[in-house]
Amino acid sequence: MSDLEKFRSETRAWLEANCPPDMRLPLEDDDDRFWGGRKAKFKSDGQRLWFERMSARGWIVPEWPKEYGGGGLSREEGKILRGEMRKLGCRSPLDSFGIWMLGPALLKYGTEAQKREYLPQIARGEIRWCQGYSEPNSGSDLASLATRAEDKSDHFLVNGQKIWTSYADKADWIFCLVRTDSAAPKHLGISFVLFDMKTPGVSTKPILLISGMSPFCETFFDDVRVPKANVVGELNKGWEVAKYLLTHEREMISAIGLGAGRPLGQIAADSLGTEDGVLADACLRADIARLEIDTLAFQLALERTGDLLKAKQASPAISSMLKYYGAELNKRRHELLMSAGGSDALEWESERSRRGEQARAWLRTKGNSIEGGTGEVQLNVVAKRILELPGA
Ligand SMILES: Cc1cc2nc3c(=O)[nH]c(=O)nc-3n(C[C@H](O)[C@H](O)[C@H](O)COP(=O)(O)OP(=O)(O)OC[C@H]3O[C@@H](n4cnc5c(N)ncnc54)[C@H](O)[C@@H]3O)c2cc1C
Repeated sequence: MSDLEKFRSETRAWLEANCPPDMRLPLEDDDDRFWGGRKAKFKSDGQRLWFERMSARGWIVPEWPKEYGGGGLSREEGKILRGEMRKLGCRSPLDSFGIWMLGPALLKYGTEAQKREYLPQIARGEIRWCQGYSEPNSGSDLASLATRAEDKSDHFLVNGQKIWTSYADKADWIFCLVRTDSAAPKHLGISFVLFDMKTPGVSTKPILLISGMSPFCETFFDDVRVPKANVVGELNKGWEVAKYLLTHEREMISAIGLGAGRPLGQIAADSLGTEDGVLADACLRADIARLEIDTLAFQLALERTGDLLKAKQASPAISSMLKYYGAELNKRRHELLMSAGGSDALEWESERSRRGEQARAWLRTKGNSIEGGTGEVQLNVVAKRILELPGA
């Protein structure tokens, strides 16, 4: 047996023995996710056990180096672990912007002191992070951002406003883009800083969405003191860090294209019933089959591009292609779920619809093609940096 095959069989046996049964069930709603942080509470004993067991092995961040709280697995071993978890239906033990976005940026641009300070905290789920990029007048044109950080010799004084800051009211710390040189061309005067959301002068105000939920906020900074040691990367070169982080954010968002929860065909069969074991509506059957095949192909594309990126054989811009396609797949999946649910799927408040869970989730997918950069902007990036189209 090769080393990797041995690793696979040991991993499978360990997961079977250690992943609690309730952590192998599809997520029912967003509350089933564990986000960690100072205010975190486990929803069940199973969720706590699963987090603690994975944490003890370093498998919350399996491919990070061991000295920063990771599992030290190779890319191949990481793929095997993810594949075996998928087969058993294991939930993610921790969802975290720290893992998906900040961690990779710190591994590349952080000082040794920053890596030793923040990465193990992320791996232990102790700090919940939010992302302070967008501003009321700077979304797609992010580099025009206006939040200022004034040099006060031993610290920065930050003033300004961010918007659409996901979970800012629940987060402990923020990774934030600030302008540190107003005279320089817009991309060259930005720095990437980290600070505690409890710092005096930071406040948040939730924004209510079309889905009736409020997962994000306006975030205000009023004379916020930020230590100079909290700049990641070089002063005024935060745009480089920001772009690198965005490639990871886009890869993370693209994974929503894989879907989660029960198979679509099963949901449709439960809702509409079957004739001779199949859905009566041939068009719906064909749409579901097409989506499932596209999803499988996309899963392979994600694995392959992950390998290519790791081997530095693909343009980082490929994350824009994946993000675009993943967002579209997820929107298609939810359109089909709505079709399969018939008029029941439109219920908004009733108990049997779990307070309109399906309709709210469908509305939430509309944001997939906005968050992390809009679909139009991703297509621009693909045209320019991958296809190198003339005039793009
Ligand atoms: C669910 C969700 C979560 C989010 N979470 C966060 C977060 O945690 N932190 C954070 O900082 N931000 C977050 N955002 C904000 C997100 O990054 C911005 O909404 C996004 O970058 C677009 O910016 P904007 O809303 O200002 O739209 P605009 O930039 O004003 O765009 C408006 C429209 O113009 C189009 N457009 C703009 N420029 C071009 C162009 N050059 N070519 C073609 N079309 C163009 C866009 O595609 C869009 O359709 C989140 C957004 C959503 C929906």
